[in-house]
Amino acid sequence: MTAQFGGCRCGRLRYELTVELGPVFNCHCPFCRQIHGAAFATIGLLPKSGFRWSEGSAEAARFTTPGGTVRHFCGHCASPICNHPLEPELLCLIVASLDDDSGVMPWAHFNTESKAPWFSIQDELPQFESNPTPEAWALLARRPLHSTTTCIMRGVAGDGQRVDQPPW
Ligand SMILES: [Zn+2]
Ligand SMILES: [Zn+2]
Repeated sequence: MTAQFGGCRCGRLRYELTVELGPVFNCHCPFCRQIHGAAFATIGLLPKSGFRWSEGSAEAARFTTPGGTVRHFCGHCASPICNHPLEPELLCLIVASLDDDSGVMPWAHFNTESKAPWFSIQDELPQFESNPTPEAWALLARRPLHSTTTCIMRGVAGDGQRVDQPPW
């Protein structure tokens, strides 16, 4: 694959992805909404080993949430870059930090039970009321993400049906 690049708004932080971005979802949890100042955050999963800082890692600020997730963001311009959840193999990339996110296509909405009351979901993507369980995250992290994504995307795009459980 061709490497993908990204960084923060002010340019002090730069990173490189050496693997394909895995499943992408829109998270409507209260934490993402407040941190991002938006209706939801769009997050892509990848194995932690596929991410490396190429510039300015010392400029990265960190915040550990009560749930144990470590957020990495620029200490100068405050752009969010990525989160490390408790699952050690997994990294959650903030899709908006990519230089080129034109090929990104979310496949689901998570945590819709805490969706902003003023925001209406207008697409046909599957909706999950809460987050995947830790077991589901762990399973997802161990799968070949690219093939998983392809499989899920085909399922979602093919019949457009809503699903009740995350498909992994
Ligand atoms: Zn910055
Ligand atoms: Zn969230």
